[in-house]
Amino acid sequence: MNPGRCLPTLLATASLFAQAPPEALRQASERMKAEAFRTQGAYSDLAWLCDRIGHRLAGSPQLDQAIAWAQGRMKAAGLTNVHAEPVMVPRWVRGRESAELLLPTPHRINLLGLGGSVGTPEGGLTADVVVVGSFDELDMLGDAAKGKIVLFDVPYQGYGRTVVYRHDGASKAAKYGAVAALMRSVGPVSLDTPHTGVMDYVPVLPKIPTAAVTIEASTLMRRMQQRGERIRMKLEMGAETLPDAPSANVVGEIRGTEKPLEVIILSGHLDSWDVGQGAQDDGAGTVICMEAARLIQSLGLKPRRTLRVVLWTNEENGLRGGLAYRDAHRAEFRDIVAALETDSGSERVKSFDLDLGKASAEAKASALASLKTILGTAMEPFAVTFRLGGSGADVGPMVRAGVPGIGMEHAATHYFDIHHSQADTFDKVDKDDLAFNAAVLATFAYALAQSDLRFQ
Ligand SMILES: [Zn+2]
Repeated sequence: MNPGRCLPTLLATASLFAQAPPEALRQASERMKAEAFRTQGAYSDLAWLCDRIGHRLAGSPQLDQAIAWAQGRMKAAGLTNVHAEPVMVPRWVRGRESAELLLPTPHRINLLGLGGSVGTPEGGLTADVVVVGSFDELDMLGDAAKGKIVLFDVPYQGYGRTVVYRHDGASKAAKYGAVAALMRSVGPVSLDTPHTGVMDYVPVLPKIPTAAVTIEASTLMRRMQQRGERIRMKLEMGAETLPDAPSANVVGEIRGTEKPLEVIILSGHLDSWDVGQGAQDDGAGTVICMEAARLIQSLGLKPRRTLRVVLWTNEENGLRGGLAYRDAHRAEFRDIVAALETDSGSERVKSFDLDLGKASAEAKASALASLKTILGTAMEPFAVTFRLGGSGADVGPMVRAGVPGIGMEHAATHYFDIHHSQADTFDKVDKDDLAFNAAVLATFAYALAQSDLRFQ
């Protein structure tokens, strides 16, 4: 090859792709993919997190262990500036809980209290159950709900549409004098697995205990009501909210060689609900962020911009990690090129969703087109798409303050079957899916770090 003939082409390419022509990025991408599948580092990290630490609700000793463990793993991978940024978090504890049908026939009910719920009075409470299928049905029932346990038997219509019953149901029922509120678990299928999740009270209304029951139990009670049978239940919940506890976001970096002040954040949340192992939600997200950095580091790749892994605390019941990070890092916002979050399980990544908040439609379309141009070749081995969309709960506070967000969308065909339940365990994670996800994230982050692309 004649170097002289190639020079004009190289110069033109350099203006668009800075230090990394597409073919170089493509080669780096293939190396990272091969290394991810060879080492399976994300899979072995997730096994440890799940099996040896377990579920990790905010303020729990297990989350403290996970915070220490993640820092150790980042240091072992050669990341720099590894540290924990302290955050005070809510401390909700489930306590003992049980539910039993007394009428029309004795029947033990499987349930999980909702995060933030108060407990029942000492010794539990016993009341008749009334089943409704919507907030409108509750309104029609009105004061007839007084003194009752209201069960919202609402079929799953997608997480976003159905979760409002879990979040708001207790106060809606309390408004009419109900003594407790039960929800049909928010999920498409069930093997008698209740799904917990966060709820919130309207401050001016009485706080009543609230829990999720399984699809099996919820539909059972609906059938009883349709037959005109009296449903009577004894409910016991030991839930309580303790004083806020110390926790932390975990941070580690690969410092950029040429533009160290320009930062790309790779993130997932280290906390989980207090059941199962938090494997999909969001153990899988946290380990692929750590693994992406490890792949880049171990292959000797040198990102021009800084890659910063952030593992959030308290996504599930307070979002204090994301809020504290926004407040502590405002001065850096102009230098954060993108804040990426992965929080939809361990199945294969399908798309990267660019979230530019309140930017104009034209600005969003233009930024998306640039992203496709600059990263397209490097990302070819993974067959992912680039779209406009949402980013993530933890990066949300930053994104609303103007930082470009990126959400990783995973296939999630079974994610909502198991998330927030006892069934969210390691055995359901596919090893090759996790390697694929680590490699695709490493490639995306590295290619973006080699470019001069800014989204706004
Ligand atoms: Zn999550």
